[in-house]
Amino acid sequence: MLVSKVFRASLQSGIRLQSSSAATAKASAAANSYGSLGFSFEMTDQQKEFQQLARKFAREEMIPVAAAYDRSGEYPFPIIKKAWELGLINGHIPQEYGGMGLSIFDSCLITEELAYACTGMQTAIEANSLGQMPVIIAGNDAQKKKYLGRMTEEPLMCAYCVTEPGAGSDVANIKTRAMRVGDEYVVNGQKMWITNGGKANWYFLLARTNPDPKCPAGKAFTGFIVDADTPGIQVGRKEMNMGQKCSDTRGITFEDVRIPKENVLITEGAGFKIAMGAFDNTRPPVAAGATGLAQRALDEATNYALERKTFGRAIAEHQAVSFILAEMAMKVELARMAYQRAAWEVDQGRRNTYYASIAKAFAGDIANQVATDAVQVFGGNGFNSDYPVEKLMRDAKIYQIYEGTAQIQRLIISREHIGKYKK
Ligand SMILES: Cc1cc2nc3c(=O)[nH]c(=O)nc-3n(C[C@H](O)[C@H](O)[C@H](O)COP(=O)(O)OP(=O)(O)OC[C@H]3O[C@@H](n4cnc5c(N)ncnc54)[C@H](O)[C@@H]3O)c2cc1C
Repeated sequence: MLVSKVFRASLQSGIRLQSSSAATAKASAAANSYGSLGFSFEMTDQQKEFQQLARKFAREEMIPVAAAYDRSGEYPFPIIKKAWELGLINGHIPQEYGGMGLSIFDSCLITEELAYACTGMQTAIEANSLGQMPVIIAGNDAQKKKYLGRMTEEPLMCAYCVTEPGAGSDVANIKTRAMRVGDEYVVNGQKMWITNGGKANWYFLLARTNPDPKCPAGKAFTGFIVDADTPGIQVGRKEMNMGQKCSDTRGITFEDVRIPKENVLITEGAGFKIAMGAFDNTRPPVAAGATGLAQRALDEATNYALERKTFGRAIAEHQAVSFILAEMAMKVELARMAYQRAAWEVDQGRRNTYYASIAKAFAGDIANQVATDAVQVFGGNGFNSDYPVEKLMRDAKIYQIYEGTAQIQRLIISREHIGKYKK
């Protein structure tokens, strides 16, 4: 492995530093992460180490194989396994369950670096965070020990099963039913577009438990943890997507699947809030992923513009091209600030829904604009798969769709914004 022992050691010393005592670690993490003197853009030494480790791994291990995985669509398990060994996956699992207890901010720094190399691989990795988050925010001690703990013991994947063929944005319209029978729930229904669907060891599942259509969403649905090998679960074919091709996206059918009542999160009826609440923690990392892709597009375009000559000079010296690069740079910088603010807010224990949606919407949009601009700067070469930017353009699109579309983010932002003005 090319990642040096020095980085592994420094990461491990970071872990030791965090695990010395839970209370001290939490207090020092808050002070360390954000500085005790108020507003600061300076990262701590530990954050720089995480970032450097992830950057080195992304550039030395991921970039060289990204195009091949894009072509084959094969699941990048060897990369995921190496990242897991280095502690670059599942970092946010609390220390008491075997994880590193990283803040959302620190996780985002890692995510941005991995996404720079390949967002197909990064989405496969990020889907673990999405699957785990309902358990982190709503699981009881036994559930966390069992389902989070096992992910720190071996490189396992999990998935978040909410979307259905008939309902994505309109989550309250999902039809999968869970009926209580004795000490179990019996689940029937179909999920769609589930990332890691065919690779997961367990799923977070949202299903309707109250059949009354008048029952409010906040009471009608229940969140479950479901072992993937439970009888009655059928995993569909791998979907052929426009981009992020090595990520595993599938439909999943539940036919008389029996789930023990111990696997209900909080209580019957609490599922909708859990499923939506997870997004406050996971949208900042999704925005960080989009930012990583956009930074890659900017770097590729700038290097190309400095080498490619037309009319006797480097194209970067044509103002029309240099201004494209300037616009790209503005967008990347602002997307980074947006995800960092959203992550910082939630790490402070504050409700960050407004900031998380701003970050997700903005970073998703600019990733698409910046990747398209990179293709433009590359000219004809940009349209060709021997060059890296057409992949970025294909990979970027999903950032405006999953984890709440660009339109749904605007619904949330407008609701949060206008709500502040209502008396
Ligand atoms: C590759 C991939 C991976 C995914 N991974 C997961 C996963 O791991 N787990 C999971 O549960 N889901 C996952 N999804 C599903 C994803 O979250 C949904 O596709 C997304 O939320 C949109 O839902 P939809 O596809 O049903 O589109 P629809 O909800 O049908 O929306 C269609 C269009 O209408 C717009 N629209 C809808 N309602 C409104 C409104 N009220 N106002 C304005 N515009 C509106 C949308 O913005 C969109 O442009 C994934 C999807 C893909 C493609």
